[in-house]
Amino acid sequence: MAVERTLSIIKPDATRRNLTGKINAKFEDGGLRIVAQKRVQLSQAQAEQFYGVHRERPFFNDLVSFMISGPVVLQVLEGENAIARNREIMGATNPANAAEGTIRKEFAESIEANSVHGSDAPETAAQEIAFFFAGIELVG
Ligand code: GDP
Repeated sequence: MAVERTLSIIKPDATRRNLTGKINAKFEDGGLRIVAQKRVQLSQAQAEQFYGVHRERPFFNDLVSFMISGPVVLQVLEGENAIARNREIMGATNPANAAEGTIRKEFAESIEANSVHGSDAPETAAQEIAFFFAGIELVG
């Protein structure tokens, strides 16, 4: 296994309910280190570009509206196998299908307002980290 970095986003449904610390504890207890973190309000253009791969999906406009409905916490997580590990800690996209103990099982409100984003592959992780962070902001 290799040490990897992955992009994480704590979504507006979770920042609204003041869950940043509880979610961060899941990452840290799960063996990941938060090596960068900033709370921002995304613009519509940023959210549309970030989720551009979903542009043709029926839920795209709702997803963008949701992602700009309040602040998000952008993070880079580091650890062994961090991309897959983070997706385990997050749980399935739809909280109804998420395993016990996962962030989405415990905190998600719906398939859309599902509390966290995590990169799904090394290529997307690199792109997503570079979209939001400068190299100088990453301190491992
Ligand atoms: P993820 O990698 O587990 O976040 O899932 P996807 O890449 O498939 O979807 C991106 C995000 O779009 C999800 O995290 C949800 O916030 C949202 N989403 C996915 N599927 C649906 C859906 O069927 N309806 C709605 N409203 N939102 C969805």
